[in-house]
Amino acid sequence: MTTLYDLSLPALTSRLAEWGEPAYRARQIWEGLYRHFYQSPDEFSALPRSLRARLAETFDFAPLTPAAQLTSRDGQTVKTLFRLHDGRAIEAVLMKYDPSTGSGRSRRTLCISTQAGCAMGCVFCATGQMGFQRHLTSGEIVAQVMYYARALQTSALQTSEFFENSEVSRGSRVTNIVVMGMGEPFHNYDNTLAAVDRLNDPDGYNFGARRITLSTVGLVPAIRRFTQERRQVNLAISLHAADDALRASLLPAAKAYPLDELLAACRDYAQTTGRRVTFEWALIEGVNDTPEQARLLASKVKGMLCHVNAIPLNPTEGYRGQAAGRERAERFKAALEQAGIPCTIRLRRGIEIQAGCGQLVVQG
Ligand code: SAH
Ligand code: SF4
Repeated sequence: MTTLYDLSLPALTSRLAEWGEPAYRARQIWEGLYRHFYQSPDEFSALPRSLRARLAETFDFAPLTPAAQLTSRDGQTVKTLFRLHDGRAIEAVLMKYDPSTGSGRSRRTLCISTQAGCAMGCVFCATGQMGFQRHLTSGEIVAQVMYYARALQTSALQTSEFFENSEVSRGSRVTNIVVMGMGEPFHNYDNTLAAVDRLNDPDGYNFGARRITLSTVGLVPAIRRFTQERRQVNLAISLHAADDALRASLLPAAKAYPLDELLAACRDYAQTTGRRVTFEWALIEGVNDTPEQARLLASKVKGMLCHVNAIPLNPTEGYRGQAAGRERAERFKAALEQAGIPCTIRLRRGIEIQAGCGQLVVQG
């Protein structure tokens, strides 16, 4: 059954028109979904009972069933496992950034999934290790955000045990969205970007595109298409290595796109959009954390509007590499910065609940 979240406002409007309903009914439903975060037909009390019944017969209001929730020891990270209708499962992670810990303004960043599993096979990623199951629909992607929007919203709405151990306070909102959960967003391009556009819709959730970051393993044709479409969404590229041989050994999907081609596409993106590219780099001790790799990277991205986000590798069952220690990470960063490339070493988050980058994996 189609979920209501799968439809754009024009599509919903024309569907209702077929039923002889006026356009303002579509708007009422839209506001119910994206302003009030209603999740069941009963909550749409402004609609006539007969219309509610017809909607309930035709559309699925709950594409995701929260099946488990874990909160990190410090209460700052919450991970939810959602069951899909076909029995598959995905995860989404909310991370709170507190200004008192020195990370700037208070943020609540939501990390969402675009596929059940992933076909790209990156050796150090738990999602890659589980293989590909299927693409998510745009509605299944949007629904992850609406679940958290509702859970965070203050009001009489039931919020389950969301806040039990969590330090995320009621009445807050999602401030940033990262499309960095399970799956490769550019392998599911149309549904992912339809979801982004729906979240962005000024008549609905109105979530600013500039506060959304999408991360790709580096599928060049999709990067070029994304560049042409000129959205305000931020782009992150999983680079992890500065030469083709090393990169192919970590990211098998990279074999199809040599670094020179990938970096040329990134350069065009930065030039065309005026937006800064983020390069992601999971620091693996003795593999890609050397000053030589840093200098090689710097030479290849020289003059590009970019920065590097380095994160010590998170542990996963299927990969034996170790996270770079603090000193090695600092040396990598220093080598990049000496060559004029800004670099941030990111904190690892939610590791003990397997909510860190590359740790999302589900059975079934
Ligand atoms: N498929 C997309 C987005 C999801 S992964 C992509 O690969 O870009 C989000 C980020 O986590 C990517 O940069 C990915 O390379 C990184 N990652 C994967 N496994 C990791 C691990 N074990 N430790 C640290 N980062 C990891
Ligand atoms: Fe897929 Fe990204 Fe994991 Fe690679 S790192 S397997 S592209 S989710």
